[in-house]
Amino acid sequence: MIADRKQAKKGGSWLLEPTATFFTPEDFDDTTRMIQDTVRTFVEKEYAPVSDAMEHGALEHNIPLLAKAGELGLLGVEVSEEYGGLDLPKTVSTVIAEGLSPTGGFSVSYGVQTSIGLLPLVYWGTKAQKDKYLAKLVSGELIAAYCLTEPQSGSDAMGAKTRAELTEDGKYYLLNGTKMWISNAGFAHLFTVFAKTKEGLTAFLVERDMPGLRFGGEEKKLGIKASSTRQVFFEDVKVPVENLLGELGKGHKIAFNVLNVGRYKLGAGAIGGAKEALELSAKYAKERVAFGTPIANFGLIQQKLAEMASRIFAGESAVYRTMGMIDEALENLDKANAAEAVLAGIEEYAIEASIIKVLGSEILDYSVDEGVQIHGGYGYSAEYPIERAYRDSRINRIFEGTNEINRLLIPGMLLRRALKGELPLFEAATQLQKELLEPSFDEPEDKEMSQIENLKKLALALLGLAAQKYTTKVEQEQEVLGVTADILIDIYAAESALLRSRRLTDSVYADIAQLYAYQAIDRAQAGALSVLPRLVEGDEMRVMASAARRLTKHDPVDLVEIRRRIATKALEAEGYPQPK
Ligand SMILES: Cc1cc2nc3c(=O)[nH]c(=O)nc-3n(C[C@H](O)[C@H](O)[C@H](O)COP(=O)(O)OP(=O)(O)OC[C@H]3O[C@@H](n4cnc5c(N)ncnc54)[C@H](O)[C@@H]3O)c2cc1C
Repeated sequence: MIADRKQAKKGGSWLLEPTATFFTPEDFDDTTRMIQDTVRTFVEKEYAPVSDAMEHGALEHNIPLLAKAGELGLLGVEVSEEYGGLDLPKTVSTVIAEGLSPTGGFSVSYGVQTSIGLLPLVYWGTKAQKDKYLAKLVSGELIAAYCLTEPQSGSDAMGAKTRAELTEDGKYYLLNGTKMWISNAGFAHLFTVFAKTKEGLTAFLVERDMPGLRFGGEEKKLGIKASSTRQVFFEDVKVPVENLLGELGKGHKIAFNVLNVGRYKLGAGAIGGAKEALELSAKYAKERVAFGTPIANFGLIQQKLAEMASRIFAGESAVYRTMGMIDEALENLDKANAAEAVLAGIEEYAIEASIIKVLGSEILDYSVDEGVQIHGGYGYSAEYPIERAYRDSRINRIFEGTNEINRLLIPGMLLRRALKGELPLFEAATQLQKELLEPSFDEPEDKEMSQIENLKKLALALLGLAAQKYTTKVEQEQEVLGVTADILIDIYAAESALLRSRRLTDSVYADIAQLYAYQAIDRAQAGALSVLPRLVEGDEMRVMASAARRLTKHDPVDLVEIRRRIATKALEAEGYPQPK
């Protein structure tokens, strides 16, 4: 149940206000659960029989698989019914991303088709452009790709060198340049290409058979081998002016807004992958015998399983909390101006999208890494699925904005909103600095929540001090921003886990939330103390350091016992103990 349907929370406001309740997977409606089942069946019946062949280079299977996904309605979840889509809430698209995650490379082909490939057209396409392409993309008859990155510019996307020049007769743009790492390039029909015009970065819809388009060979990659990744070369490609997408010089809006959507789906997909890793690991740990007993009985194996379960629960709670906020905001929109309103709604939660991207991809990396370890030597063998999961995982920290870029965006966006007067961040930080000098020693009523509120105070204090000292140059203090981002990510995850656990009857979720929170508090203390001397000096530094210690104080608890209880539950469930 959601507390207040009409008043969607503002993005980032959880840092300043306590939250009572929010959307969780336990709130999924029947449609969402039905789609979850459809995805499960699709993976078993359609993908599994060809998965090995795809891993070994038979990338052409992507084409009928996408068509089948189209037939099942899975390509048009975010598209209006007019074009054959289902027009369902964003939560449904995340549930699909989660369910498809174990397909590795194919989930990337699918993700590109339905997010960065198709959404630029959905949000910025003219009626004529949509009429021409959209229904065919929804059915899987056409496949889409997104061309932003170049050999010399990835994170620095605005540094793109591909150029588009209007021909003298004003009928075409001539595109010249090279795009790099383009997913789906081997078989896509429609490419959203970002190129520089004299007005700035601009997006174009380019068809595969337009003369002058050439492709490099398939990249030999570490993982997601079932996906196609190639260079795309543009040599005087004549693109009709009707294929200009959005406004001249406003391509960055398309590029970055679409990435926001990609980010929360990537986070959700990563949580799905981590669940798969935990399942493989729990089952293996029960079967594998060493020193006369299943390795599942060893404390150090249980510790890994418990950590995976705890992080997955926190990540999953954060993902669906965000999706709930987004869907709630989108529900109250002015439907007359749908595309613009939807984009504004999504942009509102860009901070949370970056948080989920970093959190999910790192939970996944942790889970597959420990998963390989639990499998011992067999984890290093291509015969075991955990080996592929380990390789497939790694890309998630690199694409859709590297985790460094997303870490910088989290505090960066908060500070920008504060400067614009949209979030009363600086007022809160100033008030807090006074409070920290006159500590209150009252015992809080709700100790666990108050620990999280204290982490919020710490993050606010760090943000406030950094903004005060470095003002407009704060962007250059990346290490300080990185620590702040880590604390913010942990706050969002720990709070989401704690509040969700309180709605669940099984006490194991209280353990899971506590395990996450205690470690988050310790990480926050170490992080804050590592950067405070950069922000304040002398006595002020000592006062702030002692405030940081006070805000992160907690009695030691028996985490060994807590982890063992969680591991027992994961072993019983043979994987992630999904709350009922
Ligand atoms: C398999 C695969 C599929 C892909 N699919 C697509 C696709 O379909 N379409 C597309 O357009 N692109 C795609 N990409 C490209 C991907 O988005 C980029 O690789 C990514 O954005 C990073 O850019 P880069 O590789 O140029 O690294 P760089 O930007 O050169 O980064 C190198 C390192 O420096 C760090 N760094 C860079 N700038 C900063 C900074 N300001 N501060 C701190 N650290 C920084 C990065 O975090 C990273 O650790 C794909 C990539 C791969 C590998």
